[in-house]
Amino acid sequence: MNTSISGKSDLDWTAFAEALAPVETIAEPVLVKKRSRDFFWYSPILNTQLRRSFGDLVAVPKTPAEMAHCLAIAYAHDAPVTLRGGGTGNYGQAVPLNGGLIIETTSMNRILEIGEGYVTAEAGANIEEINNALHEKGWELAIFPSTQDIATIGGFIAGGSSGIGSVAQGMLRDPGNIISLKALSATETPEEHLFEGAAVNHIHHAWGLNGVITEVTLRTVPHRNWIGCMATFDSYEETYAAGYALACAPDIARKLVSTVDARICAYFPRLAEYLRPEKHLMVSLVPAEDMDAYRALMAQQGGVVDLAMSEAELKAAKLPHVFEFAYNHTTLQVLKADRSATYLQVGCPTPPDAKDIAALRPQLGDDVWQHHEFALLDGNIVTFDLPIIWYSTRERLTEIEATYEANGYPIYDAHICMVEGGGLKNADYKHLAWKKRMDPKGLLNSAKSREWENVREKSPEEIEAMAAS
Ligand SMILES: Cc1cc2nc3c(=O)[nH]c(=O)nc-3n(C[C@H](O)[C@H](O)[C@H](O)COP(=O)(O)OP(=O)(O)OC[C@H]3O[C@@H](n4cnc5c(N)ncnc54)[C@H](O)[C@@H]3O)c2cc1C
Repeated sequence: MNTSISGKSDLDWTAFAEALAPVETIAEPVLVKKRSRDFFWYSPILNTQLRRSFGDLVAVPKTPAEMAHCLAIAYAHDAPVTLRGGGTGNYGQAVPLNGGLIIETTSMNRILEIGEGYVTAEAGANIEEINNALHEKGWELAIFPSTQDIATIGGFIAGGSSGIGSVAQGMLRDPGNIISLKALSATETPEEHLFEGAAVNHIHHAWGLNGVITEVTLRTVPHRNWIGCMATFDSYEETYAAGYALACAPDIARKLVSTVDARICAYFPRLAEYLRPEKHLMVSLVPAEDMDAYRALMAQQGGVVDLAMSEAELKAAKLPHVFEFAYNHTTLQVLKADRSATYLQVGCPTPPDAKDIAALRPQLGDDVWQHHEFALLDGNIVTFDLPIIWYSTRERLTEIEATYEANGYPIYDAHICMVEGGGLKNADYKHLAWKKRMDPKGLLNSAKSREWENVREKSPEEIEAMAAS
């Protein structure tokens, strides 16, 4: 009997679920379909492509041994496998394009060890729970995504790149931020591999294509009493200049610097009673002891500090973390009110130049509302633009991208579900060589790599050599 929900598989999924025992499985079509989605609907283009792509069965292993059992069964049946953490990725990374088995990691979620400057956790551990456990011991994650309340630490390492903390600590891939990773191969008898030091980048940001992360050890930093700050300005140019000044300030240990166009702030109803209307906004996290220096800097830059609250004060006022108005949460706040919005991911020339941004704005048009994140990249402060786009047609989106690129702002495509399509731009042959080693049958999320089909018959060494050519 064909029990395929995806319509793409000839396997008997009832028998498959039995073979997975004692691992918990979910076969109810509505629930399998729900777990086949992530936040790809941010993109009208991906939404059309992916909304009818489903898996056939969900497995929910509770331990690495159960995870290994799932992988062995998938290998024996040649079943495609898609890993899923919290399902908060934006490019359909966790959508099973070829149907098959979805392995949800959220029950493999133990926090294993907290020590001086590090935390070790299972891949399915919730990021907010890790941060809460760290806070009790005086630590916090050096970098975490604004989705910490839903996302898993394994999903962040496999799918993410930067986040809250990146303005101080750089990108996830920078030395020392990911200390080590353990990953299982999708082979007849799955084996655990340890990646340490620079080797973590063989697995990091590979979208679950080249191994199943079971355990991560990440850098932590001393926990501070963070004050969520919102300052407003008359012009976006001033806001951006103030953002750069704060990001570079030697005496202010900021963990977040984001600037948001005034028109976007009109979609933040929960902040309406706090923010001056129709002003451009800077969102930041500043330690309590640096607040005098922060206030002085904002005044010097022409800003007004409209809101400055500790985590406890925000909670008492029933306000979310300030980072829920930063990173891709800014887009989410707008999408909550109007689904015709979408976004782009754009690199900006270094060093950040407020005059350059001011000159670009009129060229972009009224359907592009800018929002910048400040981050540390290769030792320099840089910015990324995550503008709201009022989507009309693919042609207009292409025109907006062309305007950015003609002005020297590279586009990292947010409307493509291929790992080679976004920030990576080119094939990562180190990732693909490890895919050949860890996943010789190409079961793990393979449809998300354009290049895999071209290299799958080569040896890992031959694939790796392509990195140099
Ligand atoms: C509102 C919003 C805000 C966001 N903000 C940020 C941000 O600040 N920074 C940032 O980097 N991203 C951000 N993102 C993107 C996303 O939230 C992060 O990448 C997030 O950490 C992903 O975690 P997850 O558990 O939801 O992963 P999922 O979406 O479940 O998975 C992500 C990818 O990792 C793979 N995967 C999951 N678990 C494993 C595993 N154990 N082993 C191997 N592969 C695995 C999946 O197959 C998929 O390809 C944001 C997204 C949204 C919707």
